[in-house]
Amino acid sequence: MPGKLIILDRDGVINFDSAQFIKSPEEWKPIPGSLEAIARLKQNGYRVVVATNQSGVGRGLFDMDTLNRIHKKMHKSANELGGRIDAIFYCPHTADSQCDCRKPKPGMFKRIADTLNADLNGVVTVGDSLRDLQAGAAMGCRPILVLTGKGEKTQAEGDLPAGTLIFADLASAVDHLLAPEPKEKK
Ligand SMILES: [Mg+2]
Ligand SMILES: [Zn+2]
Repeated sequence: MPGKLIILDRDGVINFDSAQFIKSPEEWKPIPGSLEAIARLKQNGYRVVVATNQSGVGRGLFDMDTLNRIHKKMHKSANELGGRIDAIFYCPHTADSQCDCRKPKPGMFKRIADTLNADLNGVVTVGDSLRDLQAGAAMGCRPILVLTGKGEKTQAEGDLPAGTLIFADLASAVDHLLAPEPKEKK
């Protein structure tokens, strides 16, 4: 099937999150199994796009050059395992800015739809925070919550968008997505 697409949050989904922000390539460490899951997505014809709030830029904790170096490491790490991250969209703004791209606002998802000329209706989006799921759901995406990162806290707080599926981590979410459809018993 052509045109399969999945949209992933970054921190707490692909790599370990930190309350102190991921401010350098050294601090970017993949969650076990996440890069292998991205490789399986690629092998199954998915385009993998990342949408990530990075307010550390707006707060002056790290600059764009550093963010680019972090993302270079992420691309390289995925490639080494046979995966591919097709595009990374980020919001560099702070929470009190009036931007339209910081999740839960859907601006990044709109930009993904425009850039890839894709209809996001029914596209799976994976996040560990409510705002990830809300931003995707606003564009018709199918939300998946993973329990890595802030996921357990997010699950406990509840109020998830209708139809949210929950998995332990990205690897098990991808296993579910790629599992063959159950055959009807005759
Ligand atoms: Mg996150
Ligand atoms: Zn923004």
